Amino acid sequence: MIAGIPEGGRGALFIGGAYRPPDGGRYRPVVDPSTGAVLGEAPVASVDDAKAAVDAAAAAEESWAAVPGHERARILRAAADRLRADRETMARLIASEVGKPIVDARTEVDRAVGVYRLAAEEIRQLGGETFPADAYERPAGNERRFLFTVRDPIGPVVAIGPFNFPLNLLSHKVAPALAAGDPVVVKPTSAAPFTALRLAGHLASAGIPAGVLNVVVGPGEPVGDALVEHPRTRLVSFTGSTAVGKRIAERAGRHAKRVILELGGLDPLIVLDDAPLDAAVAAAVTGSFGYAGQVCTASKRLLVQESVADSFARSLARRAAALRVGPALDEATEVGPVIDTASVDRLDGLVADARSRSASVLAGGGRVALGSGSFYAPTVLDHVPGEARIVREEPFGPVAPVLRFSDLDEAVRLANATPYGLQAAVYTRDLARGLGVAKRIRAGGVHLNDPTNLRWDALPFGGVRDSGIGREGLRSAMHEMTEVKLISVNYAPP
Ligand code: NAP
Repeated sequence: MIAGIPEGGRGALFIGGAYRPPDGGRYRPVVDPSTGAVLGEAPVASVDDAKAAVDAAAAAEESWAAVPGHERARILRAAADRLRADRETMARLIASEVGKPIVDARTEVDRAVGVYRLAAEEIRQLGGETFPADAYERPAGNERRFLFTVRDPIGPVVAIGPFNFPLNLLSHKVAPALAAGDPVVVKPTSAAPFTALRLAGHLASAGIPAGVLNVVVGPGEPVGDALVEHPRTRLVSFTGSTAVGKRIAERAGRHAKRVILELGGLDPLIVLDDAPLDAAVAAAVTGSFGYAGQVCTASKRLLVQESVADSFARSLARRAAALRVGPALDEATEVGPVIDTASVDRLDGLVADARSRSASVLAGGGRVALGSGSFYAPTVLDHVPGEARIVREEPFGPVAPVLRFSDLDEAVRLANATPYGLQAAVYTRDLARGLGVAKRIRAGGVHLNDPTNLRWDALPFGGVRDSGIGREGLRSAMHEMTEVKLISVNYAPP
């Protein structure tokens, strides 16, 4: 039996407070990318299931909004405790479903536990503003008024998550929505349905009332579309690829729905000639090869100043070649599989394209034969030209392309040369130079002397341009998930 997968290997949808089979009785296999083995069968929701989930959420909208904040906080803390108690099973489930090395999967569970706790704390901060009414000339009579705003729950939230953090990135949507008083319909990635369904069980047993949280498992088209287009859903919080995010924004826009979009990136890690080189190489190892490069904020372009580039690239190649590639459940594994065999083929194509444009392969450069898993060798490419596809398309795999620059203007030009703008990192011992570069980079976050893939769960996180709209981080997400209402009080009507 596989940790977290129900006896018999079949999952069920979670709608209106109960697990139930999909309307059409359809199931599909869920494959472990480390072994190619079938882990179990996921239900395939129909459009009617999606509608039933929204109906359940809409029916619970008023009653959940009326639950006092201190009670919502108590339930969220209870959810965190249940998740914490289930840490090992949850981690093994994540490792099996999406091939995340078990050590990293445990960290993901720990972060998700923290997200529910942070959401509970943030409920006390969900206040409005007060205004000095008498400072406004019109409308007449402001001397006798108090003016203030409150934040109302926005209504049913659709939460659509990607495969790479199947627990924590869903939690970054579910926890703030519940904290803000909104019911939620979750559509998890098809790669990790069991993680989301198990999470629903923990939330329900922590006390989330029936209908307030629903999970429908099924393909983006038509299940995701049905949730986005349903007239009763008010906000879509999406994390995934830019192409799908734009499609969702278009559909949501037709219904005047709010969206939070956390999309793709091609984050640059910039190494200046005075950088602490060992630290910069270590950041590239974490940034480019952590979770096999399948992280939105992975270091997808290594921009290195010419005078230190040979030394940086050689050192990175040595470190890449020494990484232990293996199955996700092996405690010693540092780089697990990529999500599927199609991704291996895509990476092969990108590397071949770079080679054909005179890039050199310093480490890796091809698939790794390990049983029936989908493994790709940690790869370092040097002298990659700006036209290569690997630096224009998000590779989402363990490939580190090194590009060289001569001065800071060129570094900034290269950093901003893609339509994305998620995060960036700059390594230098001269903070004034580093801040100068940081100021000119178009991104949602820039880290000086830290890797690109840092995120503080409590703080604003998101991208600019093709990397997204809106911000997550508990307080920011709760602001997006509420509507501001102005209240005026005339305490001495004429
Ligand atoms: P994806 O293919 O875009 O899928 C993301 C989610 O969207 C999945 O649940 C998918 O369902 C669903 N979906 C697909 N078509 C849809 C539609 N028409 N309507 C509604 N939902 C639809 O992305 P992924 O491969 O899972 O994740 C990798 C991408 O996510 C990368 O681009 C990465 O950079 C980005 N990402 C961004 C962040 C961030 O915070 N900015 C964080 C993590 C990942 P199915 O699984 O059923 O197809």
